[in-house]
Amino acid sequence: MDNESKCPVTGKRQYATEGEALATAAHQIATANAPKDLRAYRCSWCDAWHITKSQQNPKRFARREKYFP
Ligand SMILES: [Zn+2]
Repeated sequence: MDNESKCPVTGKRQYATEGEALATAAHQIATANAPKDLRAYRCSWCDAWHITKSQQNPKRFARREKYFP
């Protein structure tokens, strides 16, 4: 897992497909103290998929908002 490709722009791990990214996100949520609202998005720089928190999508952040009081 340590020699996976990383995005030169964001530094995030690269996934070939959305399904692979989502599967990894689900694994992280289950095993690590990762945020529960991880999602996959396609990177416009490296054309691979990355995992991010849902609130970090700069282009579509109006899609859904959640508040945790
Ligand atoms: Zn990227």
